[in-house]
Amino acid sequence: MDASRSVVVVGAGVAGTSTALYLARAGFSVTVLDPLGPAGGTSFGNAGLLSANTVVPIALPGMLRKVPGWLADPTGPVTVRAAYLPRAAGWLWRWVQAGRLDRVQAISDAMAKLHAPAFDCWKELLGDSLYRDLIRQTGQVQVWEGKGESTSAAVERSLRERHGIKAEVLGADDLRQLFPGIARTITRGLLVPGNGHTVSPARLVRTLAELLLAEGGAIVPEKALKLIPREGGGWTVMTNVANRHAAHVVVAGGAWSRALLDPLRIRVPLETERGYHAALPSPSVEPRLPILQKSRGFGLTPMEDGLRIAGTVEIAGLDAAPDEGRARILLDHARALFPGLDGGEPRLWLGFRPSTPDSLPILGPAGARPGLHLCLGHGHFGMTGGPPSGRLVARMIAGDAPQIDAAPYAASRFA
Ligand SMILES: Cc1cc2nc3c(=O)[nH]c(=O)nc-3n(C[C@H](O)[C@H](O)[C@H](O)COP(=O)(O)OP(=O)(O)OC[C@H]3O[C@@H](n4cnc5c(N)ncnc54)[C@H](O)[C@@H]3O)c2cc1C
Repeated sequence: MDASRSVVVVGAGVAGTSTALYLARAGFSVTVLDPLGPAGGTSFGNAGLLSANTVVPIALPGMLRKVPGWLADPTGPVTVRAAYLPRAAGWLWRWVQAGRLDRVQAISDAMAKLHAPAFDCWKELLGDSLYRDLIRQTGQVQVWEGKGESTSAAVERSLRERHGIKAEVLGADDLRQLFPGIARTITRGLLVPGNGHTVSPARLVRTLAELLLAEGGAIVPEKALKLIPREGGGWTVMTNVANRHAAHVVVAGGAWSRALLDPLRIRVPLETERGYHAALPSPSVEPRLPILQKSRGFGLTPMEDGLRIAGTVEIAGLDAAPDEGRARILLDHARALFPGLDGGEPRLWLGFRPSTPDSLPILGPAGARPGLHLCLGHGHFGMTGGPPSGRLVARMIAGDAPQIDAAPYAASRFA
């Protein structure tokens, strides 16, 4: 194997495994490092929504007004732990700035371009049969409580229209037909038929890992401790047990990526938006398609191992212990959506969204030193944006023209 075509990928989540598989298929010799194994991080327990038709960033106009409430209410859909606020303040300020209307439109345009090919990329990576096994392209339904529209509804509508996204307004009767037993407090809904979901995010990512192994790649349970540039080109990845040399390194370490980049003085505004799930193994309600409860900020997804209720944002860093109370609140919310919902002992889970302030990932070269590439920062949308990002990064490493303009995702946008 030509040494110039060797790559070490750090991280075996959806971002790392997608990139690795695209690289292996382009003829690179690929080794993925991850002490937790494939889907051992955030890619394990997310809501599994595949949102090719989602073009609305997380930060929207008017968010600043909401920050005091987030600090005051630890049970709300978004909470900032007061002790962590000084560390998160800079990121939160950039996040508020990203919510200005002129920025929101540009971000939405970049999001639309990245997300649009999501199903095609999943199909390309998995092949038809595994795709049919793991992915459902049946749409998603957003629902709201009460009568008045939220402050952001008009912006969201205009962004969907800007990108020609099909959406069908649903009234209370439509919702009751689609989801028998749904609460009477739910009065409005929106069907986005171009979206979908996976029946298991973990199995989906592990399947990418199995394909990678079958196609000649390697996955080793090692933690990358430091990235060291080699004299004459290439990189040494110092792991907990080995020194691994490669012409290229892709950092796809999710929310933990800064630990490798900070020592190289590569500064990326990456914060973790922690999120939780509560999964019911034998639910009394099995919706045909996923529901996003927009008034309370969570998703409810029918999966092969039960019903998963996932969401909430907690800004508290990577080290604070889980607050399982936030996962239990999700159960309360789900019971408000489907009164009487039951389903056995729930599994509670905490995950770490790797989030940038502008809801877009950071893709491509890390900076001046050749051979170091980034595929991280997918925030709320990694299961959707991961495969298109992997394709883009692999093409950039191979020196092939990317299918879309990579500039909106470049690390340099934060310089
Ligand atoms: C509650 C919740 C719900 C969500 N719902 C959705 C959804 O419905 N749809 C959607 O598209 N997205 C959703 N997301 C977001 C999505 O889960 C993430 O964007 C995605 O999983 C990020 O993938 P990743 O590969 O970047 O990170 P991860 O999956 O976290 O993988 C990173 C991996 O890198 C490894 N790693 C880190 N540092 C090192 C190191 N030094 N050496 C070796 N390995 C290392 C870690 O062990 C980890 O396995 C949700 C997230 C949460 C928390």
